[in-house]
Amino acid sequence: MEFEAVIGLEVHAQLNTQTKMFCSCSTKFGKPPNTQVCPVCMGLPGVLPVINKQAVEYALKLALALNCKINLKSIMARKNYFYPDLPKNYQISQYELPLAEGGAVEIEVNGIKKKINLVRIHMEEDAGKLIHDEKQPYSYVDFNRAGVPLLEIVSSPEISSPEEAVAYLKTLRRILRYLEICDGNMEEGSLRCDANVSVKPKGSEKFGTKVELKNMNSFKHVERALNYEIKRQIGLLMEGKEIVQETRLYDEATQTTHPMRGKEEAHDYCYFPDPDLIEIQIEESLLKRLEAELPELPKIKKERFLKTYNLTPYEVDILIEEKSLAEFFEKTVKIYPNPKAVSNFVLTEVLRYLNRDGKDINETNLKPENLAQLLELVEKEVISITIAKQIFPEVYERGAEPKKIVEERGLVQESSEEKLKGICEEVLSQNPAEVEKYKAGKKGLLGFFVGQVLKKTKGKANPKVVNKILTELLEK
Ligand code: ADP
Ligand code: MG
Ligand code: ZN
Repeated sequence: MEFEAVIGLEVHAQLNTQTKMFCSCSTKFGKPPNTQVCPVCMGLPGVLPVINKQAVEYALKLALALNCKINLKSIMARKNYFYPDLPKNYQISQYELPLAEGGAVEIEVNGIKKKINLVRIHMEEDAGKLIHDEKQPYSYVDFNRAGVPLLEIVSSPEISSPEEAVAYLKTLRRILRYLEICDGNMEEGSLRCDANVSVKPKGSEKFGTKVELKNMNSFKHVERALNYEIKRQIGLLMEGKEIVQETRLYDEATQTTHPMRGKEEAHDYCYFPDPDLIEIQIEESLLKRLEAELPELPKIKKERFLKTYNLTPYEVDILIEEKSLAEFFEKTVKIYPNPKAVSNFVLTEVLRYLNRDGKDINETNLKPENLAQLLELVEKEVISITIAKQIFPEVYERGAEPKKIVEERGLVQESSEEKLKGICEEVLSQNPAEVEKYKAGKKGLLGFFVGQVLKKTKGKANPKVVNKILTELLEK
């Protein structure tokens, strides 16, 4: 019997507002524990929450970007439960009448596009963070995170595989980052995901019992946890056993899941409208303004890049992953209109240094004008690509002008046949065995000789000219 998986994701995205959802405490990550707290986010008696307008606007931006139906009236609700990371003993969230419903995320897996519909997007506040130290007979609690604005984005159960789940998360993360409303950092917990998964006989209409997976803080973990869980559930069904509806935790050390708690139902939380907060009313004029402020979204950017720059889908996907890099690419191409050359250099050299430093392009001293100039020097054969790569770190780190570096250090490419001929002859005479092999038919050795000449000239020799001279000498 064949089975198929049914997956629905509940994603929590922390909004990168300056202040918390209902008070003016800072949301900055990584500050000493309990230094960003006040009576409101600690739930002391007599305080009143005030909603963060910026957070509502950010939520609306996402809802607009994903084509959701926005509820012009929505309400905040209390979700009641006791847990040590929740000082008020209730979380302010939305239940009936969330901010937005419907909408979709379009994913692509192996070139196949699929629309994953959304159930709803609602606003809520984050809980504090518990820190368990196994050496201590107690746990710590840090309330800096308590009250940080969160969006919960709930997908329909339309995701069919772990690969699709990861594609969904990556697509959603990219949109959140393009909108600049969430940094999408899964390790720091600003993007978190609970995965609901069930299995059913292939083709069957009826859904199986679902299990909720928590505690996955990277795309890899989500994929592994789902793979494990799907296998586990199929195993149980094959043995004629039943799936228990529960919440399970993923354990990266063993790459398995284990039960955490039985599933609670909505009525367990005794949701009711928060009497401290009035109904949220959205004006059409606000939506119009936000709509006008939306950036070009990744999907549209990708289509435009493919049409305009004659690059492969693979290249475009990497170029547009970060909005800032895509913008840098386009600014460079405006000055030096050779998209392929710019793309090649960005995807290799530029990304190598960005990854090394864990930096965004805007956090470096690399300017579009300077990259354009560097590549122009290569095209005009003033310098070789080898020299370009050699001096690139200075252009990137110090914002140095390539022309100046080339002049100051005498790095101009040597293209004179006369001057290069002697060095080529020297290389051949120093490698008699290779010359013999070449003459016996091993033509691939030409690259070796060219490399030797480049080495001797510290990369300054024009490879094209060297190629020509060497071929002439060897074929003589
Ligand atoms: P609950 O009330 O138990 O939280 P919801 O209906 O709110 O359940 O759904 C929560 C998430 O679980 C959604 O993302 C939804 O797509 C997903 N889901 C619902 N039913 C199933 C199922 N049978 N298998 C897998 N995922 C499911
Ligand atoms: Mg739910
Ligand atoms: Zn506070």
